[in-house]
Amino acid sequence: MVGVLAKIRSRRALRCIAVITVTAIAFAASKVRAQALEIDPAKIIDLTHTFDASTIYWPGEETGFSHEYEKKGMTPGHYFYSSAKYAAPEHGGTHMDAPIHFNQHGMTAEQVPLADCIGPAAVIDFSARAAKDRDATLSVDDIKSYEAANGPIPDGAIVVARSGWGKYWPDKVHYLGTAKPGDVAGLHFPGYSPEAVAYLIKNRHLSAIAIDTASMDPGSSKSFPVHRLWLASDKPGFENLANADKLPPKGATIFCIPMKIGEGTGGPARIFAVLP
Ligand SMILES: [Zn+2]
Repeated sequence: MVGVLAKIRSRRALRCIAVITVTAIAFAASKVRAQALEIDPAKIIDLTHTFDASTIYWPGEETGFSHEYEKKGMTPGHYFYSSAKYAAPEHGGTHMDAPIHFNQHGMTAEQVPLADCIGPAAVIDFSARAAKDRDATLSVDDIKSYEAANGPIPDGAIVVARSGWGKYWPDKVHYLGTAKPGDVAGLHFPGYSPEAVAYLIKNRHLSAIAIDTASMDPGSSKSFPVHRLWLASDKPGFENLANADKLPPKGATIFCIPMKIGEGTGGPARIFAVLP
């Protein structure tokens, strides 16, 4: 009898422990959910230039960003209504390069996983050199001195090459080196060096690379070795970042949300960072 009572008591105790455990897990989960939804607006940095008539495209593009109202005003039903249509080349403004841009067998825009578009930011600054030389490139030495100061670039990181060029947007002469339509020879702005990108591919496991200029390759490049190297790794690149000067060297998380264009070679993106 005593034995049966003890068994009943221990069963009750077990049930009680189980209830407490389930309650504790539910409480912890709700706390995590609440924390996940709480983002301090002051910690969100918009890394995107507005798309409008001033948006910068490659000199060879015949058209830029067009946006036209189809309806805007009061309806016969006495309510306001507006809608518009837009068109744009894929590669201009703040945008993503999908691997297929320079890699015949690479992913198209809709195939690029969002996991490759989100990651810890590693912001490598070479703006002092770029300020003296428009053709400056981010070098292997820049990567090494960044890591000496900030520790190794983590797996899944998004490297941002910061040239300081964002401040020139949307002044084409300063940003691109030329405002003449079709003047590809006049392009002069900073980019990645092929050696730096080869080093990153070989030694680090990044989600993406990004830059605050019009191209991952410097403007003076004729054969786009950085595009060919990086996109061959089947990872995306992000170009024309705004507000890169507001990012700390490490600690922020970058989110790039590109337009999901079927068979796209890239496309406009909303890019932002959340500060630590
Ligand atoms: Zn592009």
